[in-house]
Amino acid sequence: MSTRSQSATQRTLQGLLLKRFGMAVATYGLTALLCWVGFFVGLFQATAQTAVLMTLGAAASQLVFLALFLSRGNLRFADPSLTEAQVLTALTWLTLLLGLFDEGRGSMLVIYVLIMLFGVFQLPPRVFVRCALFAFFGFASLNLYEGYQLQLSTPSVAIMQVCVLAVVLTWLCLFATYAQAMRQRMRQRRFALQAHQDTLRGMMRQLEDLAATDELTGLCNRRHFLRLASHELEGMSRGCQHGLALLDLDHFKRINDVHGHAAGDRVLQTFAAVARACLRDGDVIARYGGEEFVLLLPNTEADQFSACCERLREAFNHAEPLGVRVGPLSLSIGMTLVHKDDDLDDALQRADQALYQAKRDGRNRCAATWEDADA
Ligand code: GH3
Ligand code: MG
Ligand code: MG
Repeated sequence: MSTRSQSATQRTLQGLLLKRFGMAVATYGLTALLCWVGFFVGLFQATAQTAVLMTLGAAASQLVFLALFLSRGNLRFADPSLTEAQVLTALTWLTLLLGLFDEGRGSMLVIYVLIMLFGVFQLPPRVFVRCALFAFFGFASLNLYEGYQLQLSTPSVAIMQVCVLAVVLTWLCLFATYAQAMRQRMRQRRFALQAHQDTLRGMMRQLEDLAATDELTGLCNRRHFLRLASHELEGMSRGCQHGLALLDLDHFKRINDVHGHAAGDRVLQTFAAVARACLRDGDVIARYGGEEFVLLLPNTEADQFSACCERLREAFNHAEPLGVRVGPLSLSIGMTLVHKDDDLDDALQRADQALYQAKRDGRNRCAATWEDADA
């Protein structure tokens, strides 16, 4: 993955984590509200000063997390969501708070569930169980301590509450394990789907290549050339011109007749190799059909284009097909220039006329439409 997309992914992740953090803070706010409701209805067994101190303490603990998220310090941890630390902090605050409730303790137990729910989809089952044990032993210790201090008003209710918490936490642990297994399965399916997509994309590329390539010469085929050339013509700016040429191997039928079709094929392949060696990357050469080829030279002057075609013609003169002796090779070329708003069919027609001229003038030569214009 590139550094830019990595940092974009990281930004998205930080955004999500901050959203989750916002949810946690809202839960703290609602719990603080409940705490104050408890205070006003007389269930909170401590002074207003203690209630204020606890509210401020909880807020301060959240500020520490906020600072970590904003400074990206959370990214240094194995789990940048800091879920376990958040859950453990919240469980600690809740257990301390429950220590100050007596009669209202039973209803406030529900908040344990809220806190644990934050870890259901995020924490690995092992860590989730660790948090559940922390919650259970915290609450059980609170009750044991109060029992030891003979402060429990109704020990039977306390025993019931500890048991209920044990059952609820056990159920949550099982649910978290199930949720994680589902998540894992879904992740595996996503990976498998991605792998399938990659394979399909690769196959599509192969098919596209196959559909665009001439099997014998490996050059692009006529259909692909026409698409590329139309695209080039559409993107042409005013004042710029492209060179277009039709190339036809001379007396090719004779080569076939004398040396056989396989030798003819070898000559076609030889031409392709010569063209590849003579032309530059942006130039487009394609097999137009049979022993005819077509060349598009983007952004060129008439002189440059003629020189390029001459070079190609001469190189083919000197080419020696591997494994066959077919005598001297030659080709004729018809050249034209294409301007903005030119029609591709018209331009090909012009090149074809120039080619016809080259053949008529004795073959093994280049002829151009602009030379007609000069004449
Ligand atoms: P000219 O100089 O006027 O172009 O004559 P020519 O013999 O090259 O042209 P003509 O159109 O008479 O013959 C072209 C031949 O090219 C006929 C056809 O059998 C042969 N040909 C077309 N495609 C292939 C191919 O893929 N392989 C081989 N070996 N021959 C092919
Ligand atoms: Mg020919
Ligand atoms: Mg021909």
